[in-house]
Amino acid sequence: MTDAGLEASWIALWSIVGALVGSFGNVVVYRWPRGESVVRPRSRCPRCSRVLGPLELIPIVSYLLLRARCRSCGVRISPRYPLVEAAMALGFGLLAWAYPVHEAGLSALPLMALYAMLLMAALIDLDTYLLPDGLTITAAFVAVLGAFVYAPELGLPGPGEALFGAAVASGALVLINRLGGLVLRRLKDTSERLWPLSLDTVNIAALAGMLGGLRLALVVGSLQVLLSAVTRRPLRLSEPVVYAAWLVSLLLIVSGVGERWGVGLVEGIAGSVAGAGTFAFLGALWWWLVDWRRGDRRAPADAAGAPEDDDGEPVAMGFGDVKLAAPLGAMLGWDGFLVGLLMAVVLGAVIGVAQRLAGGSRFVPFGPFMVAGAFLALAVGDALIGWYLALLGF
Ligand SMILES: [Zn+2]
Repeated sequence: MTDAGLEASWIALWSIVGALVGSFGNVVVYRWPRGESVVRPRSRCPRCSRVLGPLELIPIVSYLLLRARCRSCGVRISPRYPLVEAAMALGFGLLAWAYPVHEAGLSALPLMALYAMLLMAALIDLDTYLLPDGLTITAAFVAVLGAFVYAPELGLPGPGEALFGAAVASGALVLINRLGGLVLRRLKDTSERLWPLSLDTVNIAALAGMLGGLRLALVVGSLQVLLSAVTRRPLRLSEPVVYAAWLVSLLLIVSGVGERWGVGLVEGIAGSVAGAGTFAFLGALWWWLVDWRRGDRRAPADAAGAPEDDDGEPVAMGFGDVKLAAPLGAMLGWDGFLVGLLMAVVLGAVIGVAQRLAGGSRFVPFGPFMVAGAFLALAVGDALIGWYLALLGF
């Protein structure tokens, strides 16, 4: 076979794998939020409960052959199932094409795994306004481990950049979560009381980072956890007070006064965001493991973009989105993540306006836009940044 023929078969092979993963993904998206097993029992027609035969389980093809209907009872099958399979096939095929094995080694594999997990997470968010921790937190680990596999010179982050990217991404979203929540509560303190690792850790790390950079944020956050553990009660400062101090520090840093004690603009802001994000993610991991040990059968998940959190406090950004940001930041690095976030906001605004014009009123969560924005940034982010810099005359 020619080189071109070999490459085409390779891409076709991965597209087929993608379609199969998409078929499994449909099962996961349907069953995970219901707390059902994703491997058993076998797939059935939702109306007549007949177990589907092998010829009805071929991704995309079965849907077309059956003309979108169940073979026995004739109930209509949603076009979403073949669309998800096609989207997964397309994504896998594009990744196999963009990161060919002879140049990129195994780089495409972690990206395919991330694409599959994040697409499932986005669909579950769309259906239920929840993002399962099992998908978002696991994806964060896949994204950081993937950074050890990527071939150099592909523009993908190395391990250090992936960790920093995850911290900045989670941090950006947790700060929107805290500051937005504070505004929505009309500056009243939060009623959340967690121990020993909590949002108080995130808040104090955000302040320390602004005043002294990332290292200070990590030290102060760790001390807060340690002291809370030793004193056996949550060591907390009122949230409005912490963020008032945070805002004053930000103004001092922006106006250059911070230089007097040796903290520059970039160091302060990066330290605050990455410090807050580090403890937000560690907290998420901690509480996920606690739920797991308690044997919480309900699929652990967190509100993502729903207008209220579990305690009924209004939120600007669900904590599920904070966890979702971690794998996106690890996959793209902090700069790519911000490009993706910008695209997510633009996409969200466009779809939101289109939905209003069409007369719809359903609340659309932000998670799916974050995932779409991130993969757009992976595809065209570098080109976009280059074009923008050229526009500015660099
Ligand atoms: Zn049926």
